[in-house]
Amino acid sequence: MAQRILLVEDEPGLVLTLTDRLQGEGYHTDACEDGEAGLAQAMAQPYDLIILDVMLPKKSGFDVCRKLRQSGMQTPILMLTARNQVVDKVVGLQIGADDYLTKPFDMMELLARIEALLRRSVAKPAAAVMAFQFGTVKVDFRRAEVLRNAVAVVLSAREYQLLKYLIEHRGESISREQLLTDVWGYQATPETRTVDVHMAWLRQKLEDNPRYPQYFLTLRGLGYKFDS
Ligand code: CA
Repeated sequence: MAQRILLVEDEPGLVLTLTDRLQGEGYHTDACEDGEAGLAQAMAQPYDLIILDVMLPKKSGFDVCRKLRQSGMQTPILMLTARNQVVDKVVGLQIGADDYLTKPFDMMELLARIEALLRRSVAKPAAAVMAFQFGTVKVDFRRAEVLRNAVAVVLSAREYQLLKYLIEHRGESISREQLLTDVWGYQATPETRTVDVHMAWLRQKLEDNPRYPQYFLTLRGLGYKFDS
């Protein structure tokens, strides 16, 4: 069955190009040209992936992403940001986007990112660990639920995958490159900052004092370690 991609983008030329190319790759695509229509469409039908432009009429891509995550939707979201809008990237990841691509982008790069996101979101076999607790945080892998002080914590799909990976590799020194390969699925990318941004957000959401983390530790020159 074809995987379904929702494209929310207001540049007609780009919509045509992307639709052609994605359908040529065997994906089913729908397109919306403003934020409100995109949000409604994303809520109305199930998609495997959403490609979401930041600058949209009526409702920004940020607002759409935030609303979708608040509703509990975990569909991978790939945001398209304007050139050099570093702030956009960070904000996008903060509000639950899984990845971002800067315009103008190379079509092969986009396809690679899409494949990586789809591969990562495919349900994996039952984890050896079904639940895990550290401090006041409780992770229930069967329900994909994270509680802190018994209150549900909203994580993006990527943050959840990163948390799960760290728990499965607790006590190990893990490099940023290893995380990009194993959690993001990139073979090679210079953007190790992506890892830092996500790690910062896990700390924000799960550490008592994010400035002095107890669990999500930085190992200078090496990467990270999850310590429980
Ligand atoms: Ca736009």
